[in-house]
Amino acid sequence: NEGLSGEVKPRVLLMGLRRSGKSSIQKVVFHKMSPNETLFLESTNKICREDVSSSSFVSFQIWDFPGQIDFFDPTFDYEMIFRGTGALIFVIDSQDDYVEALSRLHLTVTRAYKVNPDIHFEVFIHKVDGLSDDHKIEKQGDIRRRASDDLADARLERIHLSFYLTSIYDHSIFEAFSKVVQKLIPQLPTLENLLNIFISNSGIEKAFLFDVVSKIYIATDSSPVDMQTYELCCDMIDVVIDISCIYGLAEEDPAVGSPYDKDSMAIIRLNNTTVVYLKEVTKFLAMVCFLREESFERKGLIDYNFHCFRKAIQEVFDVRVEVQKNRKLLSQR
Ligand code: GDP
Repeated sequence: NEGLSGEVKPRVLLMGLRRSGKSSIQKVVFHKMSPNETLFLESTNKICREDVSSSSFVSFQIWDFPGQIDFFDPTFDYEMIFRGTGALIFVIDSQDDYVEALSRLHLTVTRAYKVNPDIHFEVFIHKVDGLSDDHKIEKQGDIRRRASDDLADARLERIHLSFYLTSIYDHSIFEAFSKVVQKLIPQLPTLENLLNIFISNSGIEKAFLFDVVSKIYIATDSSPVDMQTYELCCDMIDVVIDISCIYGLAEEDPAVGSPYDKDSMAIIRLNNTTVVYLKEVTKFLAMVCFLREESFERKGLIDYNFHCFRKAIQEVFDVRVEVQKNRKLLSQR
């Protein structure tokens, strides 16, 4: 699964029964479709493979399966698919009866585990927007219990499943995707460390590193994440990209250029003396940080620290530079 440049491309598989919401999730997270529009999505009935690598930092692929895969069908090479998979997301419709979904989950997980025990198994208990908070917790408990009972019966307790409550009608789907993707980024501890150093030297309260296209945050500093802050970041990215699409592209030919480039940055002052600051880090990544108005007075310092941070991040991701350096060293010997 490694490209020529040594760049690792984690693959995420999205699976689940028909109508569980897979296509909707894909459209909302990666194609900016509004949740209401998903009502008109046509049902998929072929294995359809989507590669979002060209537009997003998170260069992973989504395989959208129809609900009923036949593992015994010899034309379906599931072994090859599971071998190259970093995370398997199984979507369960919480508004529907989930007995059948659970047995599919069990079958899929045990098959996949046999082929590749390193896969992360992620269960999205989806469409929870219609449920009260108590109801959500109850459902999650019930699904978790049944799934682990099934695994215990098969003497496969060692398979670990993670559960998330998701809906395309709020930010929970982005939050869940962020957590799934973070597990697949080997540089995560380095990124967190760099963010910690950056914020503590700049008087910043919280900083996120975002994949701009998907609004997945790929890293944050080690202080706790609260949902409101995360939602605010998502809204800010939307505002910046929308304004930039309307007013930021070349008038003669809007097709030339991108609404997000190396000069992209924005400052929003909230009415509670908080400042939200967004800046470009790489072609796909932006940093969004929260700080007090007083701290923002030292913008020069923040920008200098940011400059150092940006350089470090680029080095972390530029594997090619490393490879070339190593080659040079070898040839000098
Ligand atoms: P797929 O067959 O698994 O790809 O399912 P679809 O993406 O076609 O979704 C089936 C239906 O579920 C569509 O009508 C969606 O609008 C609806 N849906 C998807 N996600 C959600 C959600 O989070 N909440 C609610 N209420 N409906 C959803």
